[in-house]
Amino acid sequence: MVLAAVMPAPRVPVEIREFPEPDLPTGGALLRTALSEVCGTDVHLWHGRLSGVPYPIIPGHVTTGTLHAIRGSLAATDGTALREGDRVAFFDVHRTCGRCPACTVHRTPTRCPSRRVYGITDSAADGLFGGWAQMVYLEPGVVVAKLPDAVTFESYIGGGCGLLTAVHIIERARLTLGDSVLIQGAGAVGLSAAVLARRAGAGTVMVIGAPADRLALAREMGADHVIDLDRTTVDDRLEKVRELTGGAGADVVVEAAGSARAFEEGVRQVRNGGAYVIAGHYTNVGDSTINVHEHINRKHLDIRGCWGSEVGHFLRALRALERYGAEVPWHRIGAATYGLDGLNDALAAAEAFKLPKALVDPWAG
Ligand SMILES: [Zn+2]
Ligand SMILES: [Zn+2]
Repeated sequence: MVLAAVMPAPRVPVEIREFPEPDLPTGGALLRTALSEVCGTDVHLWHGRLSGVPYPIIPGHVTTGTLHAIRGSLAATDGTALREGDRVAFFDVHRTCGRCPACTVHRTPTRCPSRRVYGITDSAADGLFGGWAQMVYLEPGVVVAKLPDAVTFESYIGGGCGLLTAVHIIERARLTLGDSVLIQGAGAVGLSAAVLARRAGAGTVMVIGAPADRLALAREMGADHVIDLDRTTVDDRLEKVRELTGGAGADVVVEAAGSARAFEEGVRQVRNGGAYVIAGHYTNVGDSTINVHEHINRKHLDIRGCWGSEVGHFLRALRALERYGAEVPWHRIGAATYGLDGLNDALAAAEAFKLPKALVDPWAG
């Protein structure tokens, strides 16, 4: 039997249940979980704030471990064979159809209606489709990649879903060498966005966030300047960013805060003709109030949404971890590790923003 932590419904305590080890179809595999995570999405799931979630679920959408069993053969995207015992990660998004208008005409596969996500839109009734479990079922077609030798389980999961989102953010930001980049939010997404903005050629990287320990980590991860959200007013921050950008405002602003007030500030922080990438509004946090003339039209502003991630973001995230993992402390984003019986505490800590991310070791305890 396999132990898994199940979220029966929103606002109901997570409980440990036993699942049978699945019979694998040809092309299927079973992952022995090393680490999964508790991220902001899991808190939203627990609050019932995401639509279309088929509770009960086994949360944990980003997960890494070793291949325990493969039925038939399994290959990485470049065609190389994967073997039992390999250290791997898998892309949590699966069943993207490749045929619908979103996939083919609009080229926005993250908006494919068939798309499913481990730990979020897969039900526990269907089996081991989440990382808060000792084993995860990798159905045929799921993208699996070997972890590069230099990438530890801890640094992969420290980057986790926030790193994949950050890769997508950088793509949407279309940075030009020397750009000033302002990141709103010092959570797992904002921290990885700071790392990648710097590596992508940003001239100045600024992060607005709280509390102080996260801002210290933001500095270690590549921010040139940090601004404490709790100790400043909007006007203070506008003045500070103007000061750091020659009076113009930031070339690119990244919203990774998930707050309606952040958007209202962000449109003022970006320079005339600049770009604003919105990545933090993963749930509906209510309306923002802006003056369209002043903040969009007259500014000639470019506002871009950034929803979910694609296989390419997953594979590029692995390359970034391989290349920069030795100098960037991704593993420190995962501030504490919990066993399956500690996940209600982990959710409470994440809910209270006590840590950027909790790790899950389903074999602990
Ligand atoms: Zn599709
Ligand atoms: Zn996540």
